[in-house]
Amino acid sequence: MSLSKTPQTQHVLTVDAEDWPALMCSYLGHAMPASAQFPETLRRVMDLFDAHDAKATFFVVGTHAKDWPEVVREIVDRGHELASHGWAHRKTDRLSPETFREDVRRSVGTLEDLTGVKVRGYRTPFFSLLPDHPWALEAQIEAGLEYDSSIATLLWQRAGTPISDQPFLFELAGGASIAELPIPACKWGPLTVRLIGGRCMRVLPRSVAAGHVRRCEEADLVGMMYLHSYEVPGLRLARHVPRGLGRKGAMLRASALPFEVGLGRMHRATADLLSAFRWAPACEVITRLREQGRLATVRWPDPSASQEPR
Ligand SMILES: [Zn+2]
Repeated sequence: MSLSKTPQTQHVLTVDAEDWPALMCSYLGHAMPASAQFPETLRRVMDLFDAHDAKATFFVVGTHAKDWPEVVREIVDRGHELASHGWAHRKTDRLSPETFREDVRRSVGTLEDLTGVKVRGYRTPFFSLLPDHPWALEAQIEAGLEYDSSIATLLWQRAGTPISDQPFLFELAGGASIAELPIPACKWGPLTVRLIGGRCMRVLPRSVAAGHVRRCEEADLVGMMYLHSYEVPGLRLARHVPRGLGRKGAMLRASALPFEVGLGRMHRATADLLSAFRWAPACEVITRLREQGRLATVRWPDPSASQEPR
């Protein structure tokens, strides 16, 4: 890749830290701790980031943090930002406002107790914060969080509520506000692709994600990379489904196959982006934008009615 780093532009580097086999088993009613793959893959991701002098935000599942506290402390010790990815990785619409509030409180409290570091950000599993969930942001504000990163702009567009793919300040009906760091869509020919990360980076040509970040740089906008901890080392997920689950185990192994498509390309694709652009944790980018007066205010429940940055 021929791009050289542009010193003044920082893009956001994020990792959803989760153990795919443990989560899938829990959805089938077989609760089990996160496997040893969880800390191992996280360390390999951090090694890659170290090689490129890049710091990131790690959104960690609360139950996994409880299972593997050492690697959670290591995330902080190695200079990265620790943030919450919910307690048990449940979609927002599977939780009531009350249980969501408890999810935020429990997951954030666990991370803070383990590390002694204040947690500032939250990302809902599956980017499942949609226009009918203002209470999810209220719960985060009540918990003292400073930003949310749960909105996939393409999902909001499909829900009939187009929204900016640049960081902004979400103002709720009561006047409280929280910064939002949305997950942008990017263009691939005539198509709009959901994310710079995940399936997009595994399956599409590496130039798609790089082209998106380059266009952000040209327009002085912020790009975002979104990774899963198990993707970057190319973990063969089906091999890590526990034995003895019978038909459910066979179902899990089959359901792993779509997630494995292109996994072998992720390490190289991630390394390319890390070497071509400058990356920073979410909290750092939001603080910089806030200081520069570049966070536009967007009012809920009419997110299309935005104001000029203040
Ligand atoms: Zn997740």
